[in-house]
Amino acid sequence: MIAAENINITKAERSKLTDINLENIPFGKYFTDHMLEVEYEDGEWKNAEIKPYQPLLLDPSLAALHYGQAIFEGIKAYKNEAGEVSVFRPLDNYKRFNISAERMQMPQVPEDIFMEGMRMLIELDKNWIPQQDDHSLYIRPFMFSSDSMIGVRPSEKYKFMIILSPTGPYYNTPMRIYVEEHYVRAVPGGVGYAKAAGNYGGAMYATAQAKLKGYDQVLWTDAFEHKYVQECGTMNVFFIIGNTAITPDLKEGTILAGVTRDSTMVMLREMGFNVEERALSIDDVISAYNAGILYEVFGTGTAATISMIKELRYKDFVMKFEVDSWKTAPEVKSRLNAIRYGQATDNHGWMYKI
Ligand SMILES: *Cc1c(COP(=O)(O)O)cnc(C)c1O
Repeated sequence: MIAAENINITKAERSKLTDINLENIPFGKYFTDHMLEVEYEDGEWKNAEIKPYQPLLLDPSLAALHYGQAIFEGIKAYKNEAGEVSVFRPLDNYKRFNISAERMQMPQVPEDIFMEGMRMLIELDKNWIPQQDDHSLYIRPFMFSSDSMIGVRPSEKYKFMIILSPTGPYYNTPMRIYVEEHYVRAVPGGVGYAKAAGNYGGAMYATAQAKLKGYDQVLWTDAFEHKYVQECGTMNVFFIIGNTAITPDLKEGTILAGVTRDSTMVMLREMGFNVEERALSIDDVISAYNAGILYEVFGTGTAATISMIKELRYKDFVMKFEVDSWKTAPEVKSRLNAIRYGQATDNHGWMYKI
């Protein structure tokens, strides 16, 4: 096994940063000067390199393109006012990455390659991290099968890589959501709990159909009865009913265990809410709405942190919300941001210093 000190660095001759204005850049469009690339072959990880960001040369028979062994993560690094850089809960992403790898019959990535590789890469490209409010560096670790062979079997070769993308504020206007009753994202025994590339591809058609009907995203429901809520697009979902915050539990393996989901539950408890992880039916959501105690509905995820839901449509029943008067979702977001930008004490040990 390779150790982190064996990560070989080749620096870019010239930084692309001089060509880019880091203010208000769109999400996921620009990448920093370097990337991490590590190979898995003959049962071991080897050739760990940080090198100039560049295209990959791939064989057309690349296994990942045919059979979809491909997983990823999304993490963010923040620069505080003193210019110090910290990453939000990367060890949780590391653990989840290996859970996804196991489900997709891919090798485990050793912690020192993931964490040290990420740390060294960020250190090298830290000038790329915008310091303005609401800006950050998006970290994208990913792994894919790289056998040049179209026989159906788990690949013997893999590549683990990390790329970095500076991002501006995510202008998330409140969403209109369509409760999905035909297509499904995840089933018990399936791959819903893995951050597998195919989960995203598999969701796109249903999302496009909802868009044609005038909605921004779908609220996924269970595959058997289309009764229990799962996730909202690619975000976890929270319902504030009375003084209780409810989010679907992870027991069936149909929900992605979001790091923002977990952090949101911690914030909500600190704010005095009862937090329940449990099955929640759309009928219970409607009853709470009719009783006037469904106060807020929002999605959580690394890219946007919190996305408020202003409309939820189930069959012909439309629930509308006055998001401008909401207190809870904005407070969760500002508490999390205060920790990330070093303006509040990090009581939970969430920030990982670079
Ligand atoms: C990544 C992801 C989330 C959010 O997870 P975070 O760790 O909070 O970014 C939620 N649902 C799905 C399906 C995801 O892929």
